[in-house]
Amino acid sequence: MIDVKTKLCCVIGNPVEQSLSPQLHNAVYDALGLNYAFLAFKVTDIKKALDGLRTIGVCGISVTIPHKLEVLKYVDEVDKEAQVIGAVNTIVNDCGRLIAFNTDWRGALQALEEKTTLANKRIALLGAGGTARALAFGLTRKKAKISIFNRTIEKAYQLVKDFNLEGAFPISDVGKIKSADIIINTTPIGMVPDTNQSPIPVDCINSSQIVFEVVYKPKETKLIQYTKAKKATVVYGYKMLLYQAQEQFKLFTGIDAPIEMMEKALKND
Ligand code: NAP
Repeated sequence: MIDVKTKLCCVIGNPVEQSLSPQLHNAVYDALGLNYAFLAFKVTDIKKALDGLRTIGVCGISVTIPHKLEVLKYVDEVDKEAQVIGAVNTIVNDCGRLIAFNTDWRGALQALEEKTTLANKRIALLGAGGTARALAFGLTRKKAKISIFNRTIEKAYQLVKDFNLEGAFPISDVGKIKSADIIINTTPIGMVPDTNQSPIPVDCINSSQIVFEVVYKPKETKLIQYTKAKKATVVYGYKMLLYQAQEQFKLFTGIDAPIEMMEKALKND
């Protein structure tokens, strides 16, 4: 029941139609009887949007593509990890003070570590945006050997410099991607509505590799179809979404979200 006491949370991004965060958070609010609601807003001007959300007292904001880096300029405080990562996916409104966090990196590591250990693994990280920064931060802590493959090579070099990684290459350098133990896609290639696209061709993948696809809409992206065709191991983006959302839920409500309840909400998609 929405009433005058309802606390509002939201996700902001562009595009944002693919986001499963509203259904995930709202399902748990309902199940636990919390007087919260979670909406999605398509946002182009991030500064104006944050000013508005702060003013009307929205209590929690999830940040998605393409705002995870720019948003740093407009918050009042950034926690230590998010500062090192240089990207934010979670903002808590503490009585008008916007405090920024990053829950992506722990969510991604948890999803990956269900399938493999990470120390000394050669990782081809596709993309150099907000999500790639979170992954680079987390995987460095696990002592993995990370190379960045990106369309804009300058951004790849920047990541290599910021996190002391192995090397930067164009995303078209498929020969190098072939020799990785783990391939991670952090680009939106393959996301709805362009579901017929893959960031790499099928012959980049072999059966001994693990492919982690952060895109979760659709669940079975073209890249995942390729991975299955090559009998390689899949790590699904919805697992990362789930684990990062569990931490986000706690930051927004102060309550531990039951993971089974969240997973059920995603499976209903
Ligand atoms: P971002 O900061 O905008 O970065 C996007 C990256 O993808 C950039 O490196 C960009 O390359 C590259 N890219 C974009 N379009 C491309 C294209 N057509 N061809 C080649 N490269 C392209 O975005 P983000 O916030 O990291 O989000 C990326 C994706 O991750 C989104 O699909 C998002 O939904 C997903 N995600 C999923 C989870 C989860 O929980 N599963 C969490 C976070 C994000 P340039 O540098 O050349 O522009």
